[in-house]
Amino acid sequence: MNDFVRGLKCRLCGKNYPKKPLNYCEDDFGPLEVDYDYDAIREVINRGKIELRPFNMWRYRELLPIDGEPTVGPLVGGTPLVKADRLAEALGIENLWIKNDAVNFPTLSFKDRVVSVALSKAREFGFTTVGCASTGNLANSVAANAAQAGMKSYIFVPHDLEAAKILNTIVYGANLIGIKGTYDDANRLCSQVADRYNWGMVNVNLRPFYAEGSKTVGYEIAEQLGWRTPQHVVSPMAGGSLIGKVHKAFMEMYKVGLLDKEPRCKIYGAQAAGCNPIIAGLKAGSETHRPVRKPNTIAKSLAIGDPADGYFAIKVMKETGGWGDDATDAEIADAMLLLARTEGIFAETAGGVTLAVTKKLIDAGRIPRNEEIVICITGNGLKTQDAVADLVERHPVIRPNIDDFEAVLNGKRETVLV
Ligand SMILES: *Cc1c(COP(=O)(O)O)cnc(C)c1O
Ligand SMILES: [Zn+2]
Repeated sequence: MNDFVRGLKCRLCGKNYPKKPLNYCEDDFGPLEVDYDYDAIREVINRGKIELRPFNMWRYRELLPIDGEPTVGPLVGGTPLVKADRLAEALGIENLWIKNDAVNFPTLSFKDRVVSVALSKAREFGFTTVGCASTGNLANSVAANAAQAGMKSYIFVPHDLEAAKILNTIVYGANLIGIKGTYDDANRLCSQVADRYNWGMVNVNLRPFYAEGSKTVGYEIAEQLGWRTPQHVVSPMAGGSLIGKVHKAFMEMYKVGLLDKEPRCKIYGAQAAGCNPIIAGLKAGSETHRPVRKPNTIAKSLAIGDPADGYFAIKVMKETGGWGDDATDAEIADAMLLLARTEGIFAETAGGVTLAVTKKLIDAGRIPRNEEIVICITGNGLKTQDAVADLVERHPVIRPNIDDFEAVLNGKRETVLV
């Protein structure tokens, strides 16, 4: 019923391809993108119709590339947009919002959005085995959603991921394979496996469909602000896909009549200093990213040295009048604590990157202090606890009596047991 997809199209040369599990253009290796009939979509959707639907990402289903109803992840999305006044005050700014995908269902990161589209599409294509190459969150999400869908999964990750991200994959019964190497090594192997076994790899042969799921972050932000876009959005970057999709979402909403004014939102990208290929390219004034061979950062979920969408990420930052920056491990951990202590939100390291970079961009005058800013928090701190373990205070342990408690209250820590 939902046939607004005309096919796939090369993002570099515009060549058309059929609606198939394909990733690259055969002429120039440009990435393929879903090609929609926006005029037809404009005819059938409007704000009122969307507002009547359940608050999850599928309320924008006409703008997502599946043919039938979603069969995997039907409840994903619909996360809070939090007005962050205490954090705004700490940063010396006036108007700040947090899009909080740290509480996305079911695996606590924005990756549930891309996976629900990719696996619903994988089913339509007839795949029964799926998988991915991942820096952690995608692994968790493919594993959980494949389990719920009754699909087999094979997941390739760098072997030295955080323990919580490993366990949060295996627990769902996924076949997890640790690679002695970087994400880029895992990704290369995953592509070979996809070719040889004809499996549906969400960020390889299903990537054009997968990537569309990220747009729902943008749709939700604009709807939650009352059907308008903010002046500035700051997004973390790994493969560089999400940042471009937030912008695409705003432009599409205007195109199909969901926004009154043409969006003028400036888009900013955030990376870790220990793996900053896109920011290094941006700052050097080059057209595309500068690959990082050996990533070294606590923000492992963003540690992609050779990002697939680096070129497009730089383009969107420049063309919207935004910018970007990177943050050191110490800055990342400090920002995680700041977010937790001002807003009660425990974000993973990627959230620390986004907030630390936002602070830098404000301090450098790149983002004016009196304008409206939305920051994208994309993952949950419970998965990366080691990052802040050494920064938090030791808590006292006492005998269960009031004297011990009062000793603590009066700061006589030496009298208590620990
Ligand atoms: C994957 C991921 C990102 C970035 O995604 P890309 O679309 O690859 O740039 C951001 N934050 C978290 C927590 C992620 O897991
Ligand atoms: Zn092409």
